Amino acid sequence: KSRARMMRQYDLVERVRSYNPDTNEDLLNRAYVYAMKAHGSQTRASGDPYFSHPLEVAAILTDLKLDDATIVSALLHDTIEDTEATRAEIDQVFGQEIGALVEGLTKLKRLELVSREAKQAENLRKLLLAISDDVRVLLIKLADRLHNMRTLEFVPPASRRRIAEETLDIYGPLAGRMGMQEMREELEDLSFRTLDPEAYSVVRQRLDSLAEHNRNLIGEIESQLSKDFQKNGVKAHVYGRRKQPFSIWTKMQRKSVGFEQLSDIFGFRVVLKDVESCYRALGIVHTTWPVVPGRFKDYISTPKQNDYRSIHTTVIGPGKQRVELQIRTEEMDQIAELGIAAHVFYKDLAESPTERLKHESSAFAWLRRTIAILSDSANPEEFLEHTKLEL
Ligand code: GDP
Repeated sequence: KSRARMMRQYDLVERVRSYNPDTNEDLLNRAYVYAMKAHGSQTRASGDPYFSHPLEVAAILTDLKLDDATIVSALLHDTIEDTEATRAEIDQVFGQEIGALVEGLTKLKRLELVSREAKQAENLRKLLLAISDDVRVLLIKLADRLHNMRTLEFVPPASRRRIAEETLDIYGPLAGRMGMQEMREELEDLSFRTLDPEAYSVVRQRLDSLAEHNRNLIGEIESQLSKDFQKNGVKAHVYGRRKQPFSIWTKMQRKSVGFEQLSDIFGFRVVLKDVESCYRALGIVHTTWPVVPGRFKDYISTPKQNDYRSIHTTVIGPGKQRVELQIRTEEMDQIAELGIAAHVFYKDLAESPTERLKHESSAFAWLRRTIAILSDSANPEEFLEHTKLEL
């Protein structure tokens, strides 16, 4: 049985208020009550009240700092499909913007059910086409899938596998396309754990023992780098980060190497105030430590298609460790974590979130182009191959 405690109405409103002081509390409260009543005594596989699910999905989206319409639609996302609620009623109570988002999610869910037996590539194609109206539908869908993956242990083993495969094939790469790295990593990790529990636990244990073993080293590298920057008058925030088992595992498979031969288990981020400081920091790093050839990438001058910007380099750092560095500004750091979602919420702009995305996010433009190519494409499998290579 799940021991999850349901988040309260007040907590959700507080979460939204922390990044959006102008939030429409009344709207959030009404959606909370509406969805709770609509789902009534329905339960999840865990035995939890069904409403705990849309509530958690809404909470995940507050981590992405999304706008009220998205949070409200997350609360309502299963009501048309699973309760007495209708599009007309949601329009009437919450307005057409929210009605359209909830309907988009309903369509996606039906598509998923219908095309489950069909090929994955075809699935992906339909999925993309269906979300083309509003990227916020896809953001809610990803959060929905994330919560389902987090609670997968309660689902029968056979469907567990299918859901994990679907996540790895479709939702992980989609999150990547949208530049949502954290979302992608968690989705992939949860899938990996389900599909290959043995490999997962081996990699996890190796990572844990490595982290334990090198606890001092990570701190040492952090402070050494910080000192070097300070000495040269560059203000930087340096921090080490842990890699996730899935990315380690795929790298081991791709390069056919063992855990010991992986060079970049130690990753560090260097976050600075502007672009100029990034290049100064790079100069300092390269004049202080020997550079590992072939590992330098400048995604600041040439951003990736999903908006990702950062300078990558690997050096032989303290203790002869190979150290992978990502150098970027605070703003780039935000976008690296949140991707497309980083553009949705800007309260000072009068435009609708969808309009804003069009203007600010090249990932959005990219997604649109992808959708256009897909609509013309006779061969979605070919597209999927391409997607996998690129991601
Ligand atoms: P490259 O060969 O230097 O482009 O880098 P890899 O593909 O080996 O990626 C190195 C690391 O950079 C990854 O582990 C990620 O942490 C980061 N990275 C690469 N691409 C992206 C991206 O599109 N978004 C984000 N957020 N991080 C990325």
